[in-house]
Amino acid sequence: MWTDSHCHLDAPEFDADRDAVVARARAAGVSMQVLPAVAVANFNTVRLLAHRHGLAYALGIHPLYTGRAADDDLDRLQTALQQHRDDPRLVAVGEIGLDHFVPGLDPVRQRHFYVAQLKLARDAGLPVILHVRRSADALLHGLRRIAVPGGIAHAFNGSAAQARQFVERGFRLGFGGAMTFERALQIRAHAATLPETALVLETDAPDIPPHWLYQTAADRAAGADPAAARNEPAELPRIAQTLCALRGWTPAQAASTTTANAHAALPKLVRLSVPAP
Ligand SMILES: [Zn+2]
Repeated sequence: MWTDSHCHLDAPEFDADRDAVVARARAAGVSMQVLPAVAVANFNTVRLLAHRHGLAYALGIHPLYTGRAADDDLDRLQTALQQHRDDPRLVAVGEIGLDHFVPGLDPVRQRHFYVAQLKLARDAGLPVILHVRRSADALLHGLRRIAVPGGIAHAFNGSAAQARQFVERGFRLGFGGAMTFERALQIRAHAATLPETALVLETDAPDIPPHWLYQTAADRAAGADPAAARNEPAELPRIAQTLCALRGWTPAQAASTTTANAHAALPKLVRLSVPAP
């Protein structure tokens, strides 16, 4: 059984066929998905989706949403974390982090939200799901100051030294569609050489499509259906074939190892995967 440790199932791309997306994932063996929130406005949506479909969720304010977030959204997050503290499906604080790639974001405001949310995670005893984009060192700086109980650095694409530092702090690194591209040399090197306990799988659906769904600007200009480029959690086992090729694993090994790692990173997942008596 596979675990998609990062899926935006609430995204509008899934509005037309969300139940079918979950059914296809289950049919492909992807029995668990973690649905991270990105803003206060979707806290309820990810929580209700997780309950409706037997999945897990995280609450947090994504760095790309800090510009439009209200100053008291951190209070709303704190309230929501307290209100749902006994909800077995609330497994992390996320998606939080820093984005030093997308232009036009205020780095000071991003950092304010990141540090405040690390403190909320620490106080709630929850791991964090981190958005890392040209920001690994700044994220690690925050983690050295505020001791959270580990988590996942999602869509990791940093250096080997940065990867090692996340692992040393008890983090797992998330690998998905980007790994399927032959030119993704750094990501593939991490997937091949990191300790096997450090790896989790994710789709980040509907984003980060694997190479067989990817559309170039030329494809789009030629009239390719944009919906065909949508990533979805059912793709996870095929994405994992790249990991199997890099590490010499069977699919069963990849599924059991990466699911065990997701459970270690997000311990509340363990109880969710036990079938009800
Ligand atoms: Zn995400």
